[in-house]
Amino acid sequence: MGYWKEIVEGGWSLVEGMRVTVRRLCRPVVTVQYPRKQLNLSPAYRGHIEFKRFPDTGTHKCIACGACQRACPSHVIKVQGVKAHLNSAKTATHYFIDFSRCSLCGLCVETCPTKTLQYSREYELEGESRLDSIVDLMARLEQRNS
Ligand code: SF4
Ligand code: SF4
Repeated sequence: MGYWKEIVEGGWSLVEGMRVTVRRLCRPVVTVQYPRKQLNLSPAYRGHIEFKRFPDTGTHKCIACGACQRACPSHVIKVQGVKAHLNSAKTATHYFIDFSRCSLCGLCVETCPTKTLQYSREYELEGESRLDSIVDLMARLEQRNS
């Protein structure tokens, strides 16, 4: 009796599997032949942070105030800046983020008084060591400018 029961259950399982397969055949394809085709990202996608480039200045507007660095719960932001003159505002000279520990919480983006941070659309990230996950925002902006 157990033998016949196993055969019936196995047959039914096969029918169920085929039913799912046939139903899926009629639906639009959701997979992408990556890397030959690129992903169609949702507008809500968050890559690591990067500087915006403002049309009026042609560059970022980071004043190295450190608000993002203080707000970051993961302590992954390092920013430094200089004043061109004694009474002028600071301008960032170095801005690094260790993306391997970033939780993409968005506090840095929300805190920035000059709104110079945004989420990148980057998803092709790879590396051989943890140092490869450190993103140099200044260098990245220069690459995007060129
Ligand atoms: S998104 Fe959050 S965790 Fe990532 S750098 Fe900004 S504040 Fe830090
Ligand atoms: S909060 Fe904005 S302006 Fe201040 S250091 Fe961070 S990115 Fe620069």
